[in-house]
Amino acid sequence: MATAIDIRKLSSTDLIGEFEKMGEPKFRAKQVYEWLWKKSARSFDEMTNLSKDLRVKLNEQFAILPVNETLTQKSKDGTVKLGMRLHDNFLVEGVMIPDDDRSTACVSSQVGCSLSCNFCATGFLKRERNLDASEIYDQVVLLNKHATEHSGRPLTNIVYMGMGEPLLNYDNVMQSIRLITGQDGLGMAQKRITVSTSGIARGIIRMADEDMNFNLALSLHAPNNEKRDQIMDINRSNRLEDVIAALKYFYDKTGNKITFEYILFDHFNDSIEDADELIALTQQVPSFVNLIEYNNVEGVTLRRAKPERRDTFLNHLRKHGVSAAVRRSRGKDIDAACGQLANKNK
Ligand code: SAH
Ligand code: SF4
Repeated sequence: MATAIDIRKLSSTDLIGEFEKMGEPKFRAKQVYEWLWKKSARSFDEMTNLSKDLRVKLNEQFAILPVNETLTQKSKDGTVKLGMRLHDNFLVEGVMIPDDDRSTACVSSQVGCSLSCNFCATGFLKRERNLDASEIYDQVVLLNKHATEHSGRPLTNIVYMGMGEPLLNYDNVMQSIRLITGQDGLGMAQKRITVSTSGIARGIIRMADEDMNFNLALSLHAPNNEKRDQIMDINRSNRLEDVIAALKYFYDKTGNKITFEYILFDHFNDSIEDADELIALTQQVPSFVNLIEYNNVEGVTLRRAKPERRDTFLNHLRKHGVSAAVRRSRGKDIDAACGQLANKNK
């Protein structure tokens, strides 16, 4: 059999072209496109408004590469972590985090990560490959089912904070956002999406120039170049000044405030002097600060900051007019927190 075309790599225009070649009318292509995206069909046999003959033909020429939920873990607090198997057997993880008035999906953009930040469990994994837009989309569809099951309503927010660096899989990540927010897809609001990056200045500028309006978070984690170099290699090629300039550009283009994510590490970046440096950084671009409680990772010497130091740090930021909050860690009992997604159960 000739290798089948991965049908979800085709745009709707491409699909119409393929259908023309097969002697099928345009509206058939549109029906199939709707099945693939809006109705998340995972086989041609589900496409009940097509003739049997056409379904046979489609099965011969095209493939729908599946993402299958293989492991479902539910936390006491309602958080659900999914292990999802890709067609070539790699495994990625995604998390659904329910809250009173919202539920958030945290999705992966790569299998592993090439950046190896030295506090992050995902960084210890080899980067195996980028995810396709359809594979990111499928994570959202699967997590959406859990959101609806849990709270009776669909996902309200999506964060690209699972495994991988989204800006190193730029095209697929942008395409996935288009599909998730498009009327042909899930129709979610772009404002409900946040892309998190370790700080790749050129990628941030490129995103700002897209005709889109999602939110951006920077994994800052240290208030100056010297400290950041020690924990995030990416800082050696993307200096903080350049990253901040890119963030300003993003803000100017989109009007969306930047979220600074700042993990508090015990006696590494949690002093008042660190807070003062962080305050100075935040003053350069409209932003808020999420202070993150570190989930200790085996083999990492950095540890979670003490609660007293965390509170002093937070109060100091607030006293200086910085809008800041501590982000509660969810799903602790199932290792579902950010930076813990590392395929323990492979
Ligand atoms: N690669 C992107 C997105 C995925 S990481 C990025 O780095 O932004 C999602 C967030 O979890 C990042 O802010 C990351 O720094 C943080 N993180 C990594 N390991 C963590 C850990 N063990 N505890 C808490 N947060 C962690
Ligand atoms: Fe990769 Fe982000 Fe983890 Fe760094 S923090 S290793 S960029 S996933």
